[in-house]
Amino acid sequence: MACYRHPERPAIEQCETCGRAVCAACLWYTEDGERLCEEHAAVRKAAGEAIVPPERYVEAHDDAQADAARGVVAPTAPFQGNSIDVLALVAVVVGVVAFSLNFGGVYLLPLVGVVLGLIVVIQAGQSLNKKRSATLGWVAIGTSAVGILIWIVFIFGCLGLTFLPLFFSSLNNRNTPYVTYTTVPYLTPTP
Ligand SMILES: [Zn+2]
Ligand SMILES: [Zn+2]
Repeated sequence: MACYRHPERPAIEQCETCGRAVCAACLWYTEDGERLCEEHAAVRKAAGEAIVPPERYVEAHDDAQADAARGVVAPTAPFQGNSIDVLALVAVVVGVVAFSLNFGGVYLLPLVGVVLGLIVVIQAGQSLNKKRSATLGWVAIGTSAVGILIWIVFIFGCLGLTFLPLFFSSLNNRNTPYVTYTTVPYLTPTP
């Protein structure tokens, strides 16, 4: 049941005059412990009774409020399951990796790793084990980044080995073409 003034907050008590549900911030008391909503507290106060405002018991009410909130919004795990569920997850991952290997898509896996890692790190606050999720996310980003780095080094290494010698030779000998054909002299046996 939610507080009649705060629909987003669970109620901890009811007004004994009108029966409306109230949260800790809306719960007033008479001197002899009768529970009241804000309106009926005002009515009783106007009648000359001593009324205790919600602030008086705010600490005790905070605990009750926390308990009520816990009962209403129980945390739900996004991935719940037994060993078969986990096995299914592993099987899908293995299948996707194996499929990628066949079509060269494995070269995209580091990019996928970075994207998934970023999603995990950003959403880690909503997971049950925030610290573990964040750590796993960063591990995924780190290992994937190493994979991407190796590819960049490899690609630029190949480009460099292919074109740099031609480039420098053209700088040194501006009059000679990039590729010079040299005639291999026939070895003639000397008498
Ligand atoms: Zn009331
Ligand atoms: Zn309230």
